[in-house]
Amino acid sequence: MLILMRQSATLDEIEGVKAKVRSLGFTAHEIPGAQRIAIGITGNKGRVSPDHFLSLPGVTDAIPVSRPFKLVSREVKSEDSVIAVGNDMIGGRELTIIAGPCSVESRTQILEVALQLKDMGVKFLRGGAFKPRSSPYSFQGLKSEGLEYLREAADQAGLHTVTEVKDTENLAEVVEMSDVIQVGARNMYNFSLLEKLGEIRKPVLLKRGFSATIEELLMSAEYIASKGNYQIILCERGIRTFETYTRNTLDLNAVPVVKKLSHLPIIVDPSHGTGAWDLVIPMAQAAVVAGADGLIIEVHPNPDSALSDGFQSLRPDKFRMLLDRLRDLGVVIGRTCPEEVRGVAP
Ligand code: PEP
Ligand code: MN
Repeated sequence: MLILMRQSATLDEIEGVKAKVRSLGFTAHEIPGAQRIAIGITGNKGRVSPDHFLSLPGVTDAIPVSRPFKLVSREVKSEDSVIAVGNDMIGGRELTIIAGPCSVESRTQILEVALQLKDMGVKFLRGGAFKPRSSPYSFQGLKSEGLEYLREAADQAGLHTVTEVKDTENLAEVVEMSDVIQVGARNMYNFSLLEKLGEIRKPVLLKRGFSATIEELLMSAEYIASKGNYQIILCERGIRTFETYTRNTLDLNAVPVVKKLSHLPIIVDPSHGTGAWDLVIPMAQAAVVAGADGLIIEVHPNPDSALSDGFQSLRPDKFRMLLDRLRDLGVVIGRTCPEEVRGVAP
């Protein structure tokens, strides 16, 4: 249920509604918005009668929310959510470009790529430290050491970091070290991890599971929001289908569907979505045209020697080419792409 209040409602009136919600055993969430004051209710098992609230001072309406996901739905908040990371925004007019290697492999590797990316205008550096690999014999990441190298490289280049949290065991460490916390496709259904991420106050990049429906993705986002963290960025990264020429099938339908159903920003990962470096550029462009708020792309200085996902990683020169194309496309679709910042790389 969503309780709407007069724009001029006093703090006491807002507190009165929240107290009523709590007295019924439910949780009250103040929904930020420029147009109205709204309080979302979660924790109710069935229908809640609007009569509990309609007579309270300041309340103008109490409307049921029909979707199973509540706090992340457009019904509850009609304006797009914009997530701030330092001075940079995710979900605004500027496309968010997150780039970097699949895994942090060494101090020099991540620093080299960080400086090159900064030069190209990128603001977010990705790099896995705790890697969830399909084989126990594959490179599992540099773990804590990788987190430190990523932080150091990002600080030196002036970038924000994005890295994956693999389980609740390393959560505190990852949350302390990174600016954006990534939940990988394999963990989209890890509800205890999602609830823990609901208690932090940093943005979470939630990737779609490879066999998850869009509704399940939104329900996983709801797990995070239900615990009080509304800084969530969704990511379409391809789903498993019968097709074998690509690693996954990048479901670009998800972009406009999510935009219709949710106020959260959504970005696209064409690297995992295709599994082939030569498909990354066309699908990245398609994603942006479909309305994605940004991209997360694997970039490696030497893909042939990468310890993970080299086959789908772009060389920096190809990635630079993609950014140029996105700047041109931006003019057509009414979005901007970060401009180059010359003179950072030695
Ligand atoms: C990754 O981003 O390197 C990754 C493992 O992605 P996903 O969880 O989408 O497979
Ligand atoms: Mn990868």
